[in-house]
Amino acid sequence: MKDAIYYETLQAYNEKIQQRKQHHQQQLAELYQSHPQLEKISDGLGRLGLQLAMASVASDDPKKLEAFRQEMETLRQDRSDLLASMGYEESVLEYQPHCPICQDEGVVDGKSCVCFQKVLIEKFYDQSNLKNILNRENFDTFRLDYYSREKGPYPNSPREQMERILLSSVQYAANFNNETKNLYFYGDPGLGKTFLSHCIAKELLDAGKLVIYQTASDLLDIIRKSKFQQNDDRLAQQPFQFLYQCDLLIIDDLGTETLTEFANNELFNLINRRLKEQKKMIISTNLPLNKLEGRYSARLASRIIGNFQFYEFFGEDIRMKKADIL
Ligand SMILES: [Zn+2]
Repeated sequence: MKDAIYYETLQAYNEKIQQRKQHHQQQLAELYQSHPQLEKISDGLGRLGLQLAMASVASDDPKKLEAFRQEMETLRQDRSDLLASMGYEESVLEYQPHCPICQDEGVVDGKSCVCFQKVLIEKFYDQSNLKNILNRENFDTFRLDYYSREKGPYPNSPREQMERILLSSVQYAANFNNETKNLYFYGDPGLGKTFLSHCIAKELLDAGKLVIYQTASDLLDIIRKSKFQQNDDRLAQQPFQFLYQCDLLIIDDLGTETLTEFANNELFNLINRRLKEQKKMIISTNLPLNKLEGRYSARLASRIIGNFQFYEFFGEDIRMKKADIL
């Protein structure tokens, strides 16, 4: 299924680039047709360029080479003046790649370019329905009034605590490029942890970041498939690579996955490597810190404890209130 999405996206991506290039050619042809002088100069420049190249190879007399250069410079200036009088920039003659990194090749150093990955991630989101969820669950729709102002056993009321967490989350998304923090949202179910990570995801996706959102179990499924499926096709490894490459990885529901040695190791590998490469993460979980140490290996727990900022969600389950109000 995921392979199918990949190939479909690749095809659509290539077609789109092809269309852009054709569109540019067409515009250029129209421009030359309505301004024959422009075409004449461009042709002349092309010819001179070729002559210059040939003369350079033949290591001709330097004066002759210089004369070619001069002549080309004059023609370039003429063309530039002509374009300016027509109200165009010089760039109108060149195809302007949509992506400055890969020049619309979709590949850079043998790897998919970030522009292609973005299209692919969007495609994954279309399939996973996350796009619809993010349209519902974002900073604009987050409601603090679900949280009680009454103090319970904590020094802050749930409302005060949520104001603090919301502010940190908004700032986190806004300053994402300069952020070095990872966030750990923990507390009982129904307190808005997932909602808030959706808010951050939406904000960053809109800003063009690569964000991967997975529950811990789905994430382990992706890793399992990538490791155990005898699949030499590098393209099929894409979802797995995204876990490592994306700008932000959101691991939802940590602690609900079936815990095996494999899960313990792979979670450590993933989290540890992302930390080393300073790639950010958000974990949302029901596990308080003391349970974290009981559930996972000491090395995984200590990596999380040492490298995440902790935000506790407490209060009453707001899902009931939401159901009443909505
Ligand atoms: Zn690119």
